[in-house]
Amino acid sequence: MKRIPDEACASICGLFCGACPSFPEECHGCFSDLVREGCRGCADHGFLDCAASHHITRCYECEEFPCVKLREFSTKPVINGICNHANVIPDSLRMKEIGVAQWICEKIAEHKCPKCGRLRNWFEMGTHSCD
Ligand SMILES: [Zn+2]
Repeated sequence: MKRIPDEACASICGLFCGACPSFPEECHGCFSDLVREGCRGCADHGFLDCAASHHITRCYECEEFPCVKLREFSTKPVINGICNHANVIPDSLRMKEIGVAQWICEKIAEHKCPKCGRLRNWFEMGTHSCD
């Protein structure tokens, strides 16, 4: 299998794709050619095109950050009471502050189960059980 660059799991909009149930089996992130259906072309949000037109890589680099589009994105969808987009703005700010590579390390630490070491996805953070 082709190696996925580490930075692939830091999305344009500020999501940690390492916590996505589709990553890396069905999706290699929004910079790759293998993108899960819901994120293809960033769906109706179009962050990929938007970032290109602003000559930036990720939203936090943009002078319009946090724009209306990103703010709306951070409120939906809500699945089983969890909006996995909820932290894209603070997470983007953190990326800007400490750099993408360090941010990924932080996110891995946050999502790693202290017991089994597995990376918990967004929707199982509160419910994951190793048994
Ligand atoms: Zn566990």
